[in-house]
Amino acid sequence: MTGPTVRRLDDWDRDPLQEIAETHGTPAYVIDLDRVRENLDRLQTAFPDARLLYAVKANAGRAVLQTLADAGVGAECASIGEVSRALEAGFDPADVQYTPVNAPARDLDGLLIDGGGTITITVDAMDTIDRLAERGFTGDIAIRIHPGTGAGHSDAVATGADAKFGIPVDRVPEAVAAATERGFDVVGLHAHAGSGILNDGLAAHQEVIETIASVATDLDTDLEFVDVGGGFGVPYRPDEEPLDLDAIATATREALSEVDAELRIEPGRYLVADAGVLLARVNTVKPAGDGVLAGVDAGMTDLLRPALYDAYHPIRSLSEDRAGERETVSVVGPICESTDVLARDRRLPKPERGELYALGFTGAYGIEMASQYNSRPRAPVIAMEDGATELVRRRETVEDVIDSEVDR
Ligand SMILES: *Cc1c(COP(=O)(O)O)cnc(C)c1O
Repeated sequence: MTGPTVRRLDDWDRDPLQEIAETHGTPAYVIDLDRVRENLDRLQTAFPDARLLYAVKANAGRAVLQTLADAGVGAECASIGEVSRALEAGFDPADVQYTPVNAPARDLDGLLIDGGGTITITVDAMDTIDRLAERGFTGDIAIRIHPGTGAGHSDAVATGADAKFGIPVDRVPEAVAAATERGFDVVGLHAHAGSGILNDGLAAHQEVIETIASVATDLDTDLEFVDVGGGFGVPYRPDEEPLDLDAIATATREALSEVDAELRIEPGRYLVADAGVLLARVNTVKPAGDGVLAGVDAGMTDLLRPALYDAYHPIRSLSEDRAGERETVSVVGPICESTDVLARDRRLPKPERGELYALGFTGAYGIEMASQYNSRPRAPVIAMEDGATELVRRRETVEDVIDSEVDR
C-alpha cells in the first residue's frame, strides 16, 4: 500500500476532521497512522536495499513511534529523551542510533545507562570521542562528516554547510584514528545535507553523498554503513511537485557505487508531514488593510514553523462550502508576538466566527516544536487508523504548565 506520492490538504475527508474538532475541541493535532505506513512503503520501495531509521525529532509521539517500530525500521535520535522514548515505544537498542549535536554531558551519561552500550553513537566532534572514552563507552561509533555544502527549504536548515554539524572532511581520518586508538569500532560514516530537499535540491544532495563516498573509499577501515541522513522534502506549497523518490534513489546509488557498505537513510519529515493536520477555530474577525484578519485559537506555541522559518502551511476551511465569497485572509494566533502569524494573505472564504480551519503538512515538526509560552497548555493529538480515531495525547491543562514549579 504505497498510496499517492503526496496527500494534499484538500485530499483529507472533511467529516472525520469536523468530528474530531467537535469531540476534542481545538486546537488539536490529527495524525493518520495509515498514511505514515504508506509513506514508509514508498520510501522502502524506492530504496529497497537501504536500512531506514526514522528521525524521531519530526514527531516523537508514542503512536507514531510504535507504528514505525512495528514496521521494523530503526530510530535516529537527537537526544537522550528521544532515545528513551524510542526504547519505551518498542525499538530494539540495536536499532537505535544517537546523533547528537554538541552532546550534553547529561545525554552521554544517560546513554550508558539506558542504551546499555548497544546504541550506535554518531560523533560530531573530536571532543566527543574523548568524552565517550572517559565514560568507559564500549559501543560502536559513527563519524559525522561536515561535508561543506548543504541543501534545504531555508538557509536555517541547510545543515550540511554549517560548521556546527560534524567533523570537517579533511579531519575525518584523524578522528577515525583517534577513535580506533581508544578502542572504539568505527562502523559508519554519516552526513545530513539538510532538510526539505525537493527536486531542485537533488544536485546538492548528490554532491554531499559523493563527498561521503570519497571519504569512505579513502579510509582503510571496513565500514558497516554509510548514512546519508534525511531531508526528503514534501511539497508544502500547492505549486510544488512531490519529490521524485526514484530520482533521488538513483542519484544516491550512483554516488555510492564504489562504496561497499550498507546504505542508511534517516527520513523524518517525509514519513509524517502529510500524515498530519492541525485543527483551529476562528475566534475573531477584523478588517485589516485590503484584507481581513482571522484570529484563531492555535498559534506559534502550537505550530512554530511559520514564525521560525517563515514556513508555508496550506490552510483550508472545513466549514460548509460558501461558494464565491473569497477574500484575502491572514490567519493569526493568540500569542503576544507579532510573528504569531500562521498564514499570510491567503484566498479563503470570508471568515466567520466559529469557522473550523485545517492547517496541512503539520505532522512533522508540529507538536514537537510546541511550547507553553504565554502559559498556553499544549494541544492534544488524535490518531486515525483503520477508519477509527483515538486520543493519543491529551490536552494539557494549566496545572501541567505549573506542575514543575517548586512550592516556596
Ligand atoms: C533532522 C534530522 C533528520 C531528519 O530530517 P528530515 O528533514 O525530517 O528528514 C535526519 N538526520 C539527522 C541527523 C537530523 O538532524
